[in-house]
Amino acid sequence: MAALLELEHAYDLARADPAFTRELTGLLRTRIGRPTLLHQVPRFAARLGAAPPTVYLKREDMAHTGSHKINNALGQGLLARRMGKRRLVAETGAGQHGVAVATVAAMLGLSCTVYMGAVDAERQRPNVIRMRLLGAEVRVVETGSRRIKEAITESVRDWVSQVDTTHYLLGSAAGPAPYPRIVRDFQYPIGAEARSQILTAEGRLPDYVIACIGGGSNALGAFRPFVADAGVRLLGAEAAGRGLHTGAHAASLSAGSPGEIDGSFSYLLQDDDGQIATTHSVAAGLDYPGVGPELSYLEDSGRLSSVPITDDLALRGMRELGHSEGIIPALESAHAVGCLLDLAERGELAAGSVVLLCLSGRGDKDLDIAARELGLF
Ligand SMILES: *Cc1c(COP(=O)(O)O)cnc(C)c1O
Repeated sequence: MAALLELEHAYDLARADPAFTRELTGLLRTRIGRPTLLHQVPRFAARLGAAPPTVYLKREDMAHTGSHKINNALGQGLLARRMGKRRLVAETGAGQHGVAVATVAAMLGLSCTVYMGAVDAERQRPNVIRMRLLGAEVRVVETGSRRIKEAITESVRDWVSQVDTTHYLLGSAAGPAPYPRIVRDFQYPIGAEARSQILTAEGRLPDYVIACIGGGSNALGAFRPFVADAGVRLLGAEAAGRGLHTGAHAASLSAGSPGEIDGSFSYLLQDDDGQIATTHSVAAGLDYPGVGPELSYLEDSGRLSSVPITDDLALRGMRELGHSEGIIPALESAHAVGCLLDLAERGELAAGSVVLLCLSGRGDKDLDIAARELGLF
C-alpha cells in the first residue's frame, strides 16, 4: 500500500504540473510519432457487403515500436524519473509492452527488467530479442500457466523488494489503483486525436468505435473521449479463443463473473471457488483472465458491449486487412477487425454507418503464428 500511495501522490502532482505535460506531449510528437494517422480503408470496407460502411483505422501500429503501449510506457517512464527511480520493472504478454518499456528506459537512461511467461516468450520470440537488443534484462517466468498472470506476480514481487529504486511500469488499465487511472490517462490521446480527426474528415462522430480488449488500455484510450456521446456505440472485441463453449478463451466480460484479481475488483474468469481459470487466445496480448475495472463498469452500465471473437475470425481479419489494404495487424488488433467482419455478416451495420476501428498494433511479432495457423510456409 505504501508504494501505491506514493505513486498516487506523485502522479497527482505530475498531472497538475504543466512542465510534465509539456515534456510528455513534446516527446510523443518528436519521438513517438503522434498524432498517429487516421484514414479510410475503402477496399477493406467493400468486403463488408452491398451497402458498405465508411471505415476509418486509427493507426496505433504506426507509433514508435509498433503499438499503443509506448504512450503509457513513456508517460510512466517520465513519472518514474520524476520520482527519482532509476530502474523500471514490467510484465509483458505479447512483448509489445516490454519492448515499449525497454525503449523508454533506453531513451531516458534508466535500467530495465522485464518479466515474461515462458509460453509467451516462446510464441513472441522476436520481441524477446528486441528487448535484449534495447538493453533490457528479460526474465522468463516458469511458474503456473507461464503467461502474463505469473509475469505480473513476479513484477510486483520484484517491485516491493526494491521499491526505493524501482518503478513498476504496469502495461494495461488493470491492477491496483492508481494504475487503471494512470494507464487510461496516458492512452487518452488515442481517442482524443481520433475524435478530432474524424470530425475533420466526416463532419460528424462515428456510429461505432471498435477496439480489442486485453486488460483494456487501447480500448479505454479509444473509448473514453466518446463515452458522453450517447449516439456512438462502443464495441469491445474479446478473445473467444476456440469458442466460449470450449472454455478455451479469455473473454472476461462476455463470460466472466465479478471477483478479485491483481488488486482490482472486476470481471474475471474463475471457478466456483474463486480460483483463476487458465485462459487461451491465439493473441498473447489478450490472454489474461481479467479486465480492468473501468471497462467492467462501462459494461455493467450498458455503455459498452463486449463481443467475443474467436481465434479463427481474428486470423481471417488479419488476412483480409492484409490482402485488401496492405496492412498486417497484430493478432490482438485483428480481433477488432474480426468484430467488424462479424457485425457486417450478421447484418447489423445500418447503411451509411461510419466506423472507427482502433488498430492497436502491427503484426510483425505474429508472423510465425500466422504462418502456422494459415499454412503460409
Ligand atoms: C498489449 C496489446 C493489446 C492488449 O492490451 P490492452 O491493454 O487491452 O490494450 C492489444 N493490442 C496490442 C497490439 C497489444 O500489444
